[in-house]
Amino acid sequence: MSENPQEERTLTGIPASPGVAHGPAFVFLHSELDVPAYTIETDQFDHEIDRFEKALIATRKEIQKIRVEIADNLGEAEAQIFDAHQLVLEDKALIDETIRELRDTGFNIEHCFQAVAQRYIDFFDSIDDDYLKERASDIRDVARRLLHTLLGQAFDTMITFSEDRIFVAEDITPSDTANLDQGRVLGLITDKGGHTSHSVIMARSLGIPAVVGLHDATDQIDPGDDVIIDGYDGIVIIHPTAETLFKYGKLKDKRKSIVDTFSKTIPLPSQTADGREFILSANVESAQDIDLVNRNGARGIGLFRTEGIFLKSNSFPSEEEQYQDYRAVVEGAQGRMVTIRTLDLGGDKSLKHGVGIHHIHEENPFMGFRAIRFCLQYTNLFKEQLRAILRASAHGRVRIMYPMISGIEELKRANELLEDAKQDLEKRGEAHSKDLPVGTMIEIPSAAYTTDILAEHCSFFSIGTNDLIQYLMAADRLNDQIAHLYQPSHPAVLRTIRTIVDNAKKRNLNVSVCGEMASDPLYTGLLMGLGIDELSITPALLPEVKYLVRTIHFDDTLALAKKAMDMDTAAEIRTELNNFRKERLKDLMDWE
Ligand code: PEP
Ligand code: MG
Repeated sequence: MSENPQEERTLTGIPASPGVAHGPAFVFLHSELDVPAYTIETDQFDHEIDRFEKALIATRKEIQKIRVEIADNLGEAEAQIFDAHQLVLEDKALIDETIRELRDTGFNIEHCFQAVAQRYIDFFDSIDDDYLKERASDIRDVARRLLHTLLGQAFDTMITFSEDRIFVAEDITPSDTANLDQGRVLGLITDKGGHTSHSVIMARSLGIPAVVGLHDATDQIDPGDDVIIDGYDGIVIIHPTAETLFKYGKLKDKRKSIVDTFSKTIPLPSQTADGREFILSANVESAQDIDLVNRNGARGIGLFRTEGIFLKSNSFPSEEEQYQDYRAVVEGAQGRMVTIRTLDLGGDKSLKHGVGIHHIHEENPFMGFRAIRFCLQYTNLFKEQLRAILRASAHGRVRIMYPMISGIEELKRANELLEDAKQDLEKRGEAHSKDLPVGTMIEIPSAAYTTDILAEHCSFFSIGTNDLIQYLMAADRLNDQIAHLYQPSHPAVLRTIRTIVDNAKKRNLNVSVCGEMASDPLYTGLLMGLGIDELSITPALLPEVKYLVRTIHFDDTLALAKKAMDMDTAAEIRTELNNFRKERLKDLMDWE
């Protein structure tokens, strides 16, 4: 902190979503629950005990409900963790001690329960025994749930605020994002995170400026501080002076006029200056994004991430709920192709109810039990989703694709389960598309280098560069410490994309890119020149990419790709791509 807390200060991080915003900060800390402490009159003790008993009953019921859902969806073994939770709630010692604490101290029951639970947690944590440490974690989970009930809050409620705010957080998980009052978020600032973390992807799709990887923004910024966020250059200014505000006001106006120029291409065809068509589609997370897709003139939906409905709810959504969700997207697309990706839970997208898969701590979640790996183990859950997608396919044009395929066995197994799901619907007499195209996401190097084999068992490829780059470069996409190693322009990335395209073309398969690389105009010419057929883009950035496509001659992209493929370093390639783009947009932007 500076000596004068009101003095203007600048922090620099990773520019993650373009735009400039100005407003008061909302600092969100993943702190423990804010449990109030107040004294109770002795004649109210019975009332406190009654509240406690009612909360115990309600929480037991809640856990029982989750247990049944988990047993149905994931299996009996996974559901058993909730038996341990029930035992905590029935633990006579814990209950009696809480009541004794109330009588001894005279504090409110939530305060007493929290104090007693904490003593148990500390005790079990202090013993060097894995089984007992697990017990500490059970008590922690159950205590949180019970305290939420006592405090009258739903478990993990919406993060809401009464005014528009710049949201500042150490980190923001996809499940926090799903529960954020998005209409009131002016900008996003985080200590951690990289350019392709899911919260950032969401910010970009909503057109909210974001700067991430600032390390200590939550220490530097206090709630209510006046803050400017510059998502173009990755700068955050705390307590800006009048002069700085003026400068940023002008920058905002200038950028707005450029964005207006990009927007003029929305109704125009997506084709190069020499008339070659190039498909630009959009990435969506829910039916709410459809309006943005339509407004930005996307040809279709190249990636519908289906995790949203799972991350939002407190339990697994049923086939019917999923069907309604997917159907809303398919109908909203009004006859345009919708590419629905099957569930990609895991990595940084863990369920907020912490059940089933995600109570297991993973050292390397991005290389762990996620996406298709999870679905191929929990086949009932997977088939439920496949049936919901198939049913939605009766309402429009749908393709399906599997995330995180690492080789042919997984692809074949997923296809078998898809056939099973179709047969289930046949038996039930439910309508669905009979010839739904099936695609494979290419985001693991082992898949990329066996695309010749995979191509025989699917009808298109979609390259998930967010993951592919992290696995090629061994650079965690969320880790800001090694963000400089996460290089989309690295020769290895270019060569891998070229291999995928070459293998696909031998069997006439189309290849799209749906990772964030597709949304960055720096790579548009290169990806076209490498033979990519389609880019699936964050809707808000689509007009800019289309504008650029319309200035490009196709032969120039081939020359660009050839030149880049002959270069040795990511930096050289990046400079070349930058020059290519600048040359085409020189009338529009000044590049000082
Ligand atoms: C990707 O990895 O590029 C991708 C599109 O999937 P996600 O970002 O959801 O992992
Ligand atoms: Mg991915």
